[in-house]
Amino acid sequence: MSGDSCPVPLAGPSCEATVRPTIYLDHNATTPVDKRVLVEMLPYFTGSFGNAASATHGLGREAAGAVESARSEVAALIRAEPKDVVFTSGATEAINLALTGAMRGYRERGRHLVTVATEHRAVLETCERLRDEGCEVTVLPVDRLGRVDPAAVVAALRPDTVLLACMFANNEIGTIHDIAALGQLTRAAGVLFHVDAAQALGKEAIDVDAMGIDLMSLSAHKIYGPKGVGALYVRRRNPRVRLTALMSGGGQERGLRPGTLNVPGIVGFGVACALAREALDADPGSAPLRGAQEAQPGSAPLRGARETQENTATERDRISQLRNRLWQRLSSLGNVERLGDPDHVLAGTLSVAIYGVDARRLLVETPTIAASLGAACASVTPEPSHVLRAIGLNWRQAEGVVRLSLGRFTTAAEIDTAADLLAANIARLRTATPTLSPAPALSSAPAPSSAPATSTV
Ligand code: PLP
Repeated sequence: MSGDSCPVPLAGPSCEATVRPTIYLDHNATTPVDKRVLVEMLPYFTGSFGNAASATHGLGREAAGAVESARSEVAALIRAEPKDVVFTSGATEAINLALTGAMRGYRERGRHLVTVATEHRAVLETCERLRDEGCEVTVLPVDRLGRVDPAAVVAALRPDTVLLACMFANNEIGTIHDIAALGQLTRAAGVLFHVDAAQALGKEAIDVDAMGIDLMSLSAHKIYGPKGVGALYVRRRNPRVRLTALMSGGGQERGLRPGTLNVPGIVGFGVACALAREALDADPGSAPLRGAQEAQPGSAPLRGARETQENTATERDRISQLRNRLWQRLSSLGNVERLGDPDHVLAGTLSVAIYGVDARRLLVETPTIAASLGAACASVTPEPSHVLRAIGLNWRQAEGVVRLSLGRFTTAAEIDTAADLLAANIARLRTATPTLSPAPALSSAPAPSSAPATSTV
């Protein structure tokens, strides 16, 4: 793991050798749990194990207090009211609840929703299911850089449109949408606005009021928190969003997400948000957060957070500098294309089409680097992801796409080593398979959107 700089010892009594640690460049898939997060979670597995719904004793009340502290931390990171945060098992569940809950809750208003071709499968597949329930779905195309045209959004809105679903930042190519502009136009049209912020949370400043966001899906494991926990922001004022719950049970989370709360996971999510907020607040490129200096109501002091201020002070800048360094090295190889919008892109995301190389083979032959592909095996034949198809790449072009995503613990030494390893293997593979080498003519037209074929996260 990139977070652990020491080499991994090989198992076995006689083995003194070490293997090289993995250079982890797959942070958009998941991040390692920050040790400061883990430390805060641990007591809630054993000593403080109460059920947050058990109001009759101290253990239960302690768990409930920890959940409310975490809720305040999540809310502070998006500048929301704590009561507007509903804990879920992750962004996938939050998206399902937001889209299905809104379309069912606003049935009398209409049955039409609008989304974008590069959304995560959790959104696109939920839309497919809603279509089966009688909803009409408009899927908007994107341009070569992965941008949706706000004028196309306006043109798609109808009197019976209930909701626009547009992600904050794309998980594959990193393109950041102009969420504030989209929020303004949905507000003007009286349409609800759902934002999948799984990739943007903690990396970009988010303000649900200033951006006109009504519903927003979040995930802990993309920001150094645990897997299996996330949240849905549900606006309660101006306007009050009415969702129909998808599950029935004990009434937890305003009845929107019944079931016993995952207290250690929620605590970890809260600490991860507090750490991310510290990094963002200290980042000169991000707007100051409202009340950033004020104590959050019910928010517990964070052990060890202050001592890391120096490391996280310019986290976004540091990561984007490393990303640029990696891109500089790869671009010097020639016949490579950086995907996504270079002016509006997640700091840690570098999606590169390396023409003349089978990216799957490249990663197999570079086993010390953990990264993702732009094409994945849906069945027997690998197919380009729906995102790459939406920006106009064909099968052959997508076959050479590698997504390298950097994070909090990525070091300059790791980037230099990764660049050396990739450069050597790219040169070797291009020589070995010269027939794949010519740069393909790039189509600028958006590909017709169709069912997503891969499971890229
Ligand atoms: N949305 C985006 C953009 C993602 O990248 C992911 C991660 O896979 C998800 C949603 C799903 O998040 P989770 O793993 O919390 O369900």
